[in-house]
Amino acid sequence: MKTLLAVALMTTAGQAWGAPVPGSLEVHWNAGAPDCAATPQSPLQVHAYEPQTLILRQSPCADFEANFVYLLIGSDRALLIDTGAVADPQRMPLAKTVLDLLPAKNGAKLPLLIVHTHGHADHRAGDAQFASLPSVRIAPTELPEARTFLGLDDWPNGVARIDLGGRSVEVVATPGHHPGHMSFYDGRTGLFFSGDFLLPGRLLIDDVDAYRDSAVRAAEFLKARPATHILGGHIELGLDGRAYPSGAQHHPRERPLQLSRHDLLALPAALDGFNGFYARHPTFILSNPIHNLLAIAVAVLALLALSIYAGRRALRRRRKQAQATTR
Ligand SMILES: [Zn+2]
Ligand SMILES: [Zn+2]
Repeated sequence: MKTLLAVALMTTAGQAWGAPVPGSLEVHWNAGAPDCAATPQSPLQVHAYEPQTLILRQSPCADFEANFVYLLIGSDRALLIDTGAVADPQRMPLAKTVLDLLPAKNGAKLPLLIVHTHGHADHRAGDAQFASLPSVRIAPTELPEARTFLGLDDWPNGVARIDLGGRSVEVVATPGHHPGHMSFYDGRTGLFFSGDFLLPGRLLIDDVDAYRDSAVRAAEFLKARPATHILGGHIELGLDGRAYPSGAQHHPRERPLQLSRHDLLALPAALDGFNGFYARHPTFILSNPIHNLLAIAVAVLALLALSIYAGRRALRRRRKQAQATTR
């Protein structure tokens, strides 16, 4: 395992980074539809950021999560970051599409390593499609197996490195949305793949302290490196900055996928000032789903208690009136 993944022990400080290979994000992502059944569309969209960096987007009609999946191609092997929300290859031909995109070397397709930003089902449901394929290795999704596999022995500190042959991808722990969340930095393009840790949409907070520490850690990590764009796992905001309703399969006028170092630097202060429930920022929304559910449950219980109280009072008043008229 360690022959595949060499641990980089924060030795990159002071390292000179070459200019990132430029790429394009000039793309209109499939917006889904108000009525998906009446609007047949391709389940998977492929965009070449540059020839060796492919961005795959699952249609909102195939699954409302509309995940982004990233394929990075090196000279010895390729890396797939996440496998999206759909297991069924008939509905989502992810494995076939990825294999078709892999170049050949010595008469065979390049070996593929699959890693995950975290273990939520919408980031790993497609694993099943790759399970029986030769030359494909799938990293575990949950701690502690995932961190052992990647060599992040001092979790959540330290940086692991995945060597793809002429292309190196670094791994940083970014828990807070999920205890095992990781982000990936590609030295070739300067892209930072942030999963659900940072995306233009709802940042669902499981552990606010871990989240803040991750934001500081990621900002510190990127300080020494060129960061061209931060690419997350979903787009949930329109150009007007408003979130699509949860479960929406239509994303009209989506804002761009990419965030910047500036957005990451805004995250620690945003988390420090978080009210624990919901807060809108220009490029993301902080939300604690558990707290919000509890608040809704408390509000529903309070309403219920109030209506029972009001009902009893009305009943008592009616009884008194009835007694007065019979007297
Ligand atoms: Zn998630
Ligand atoms: Zn997700």
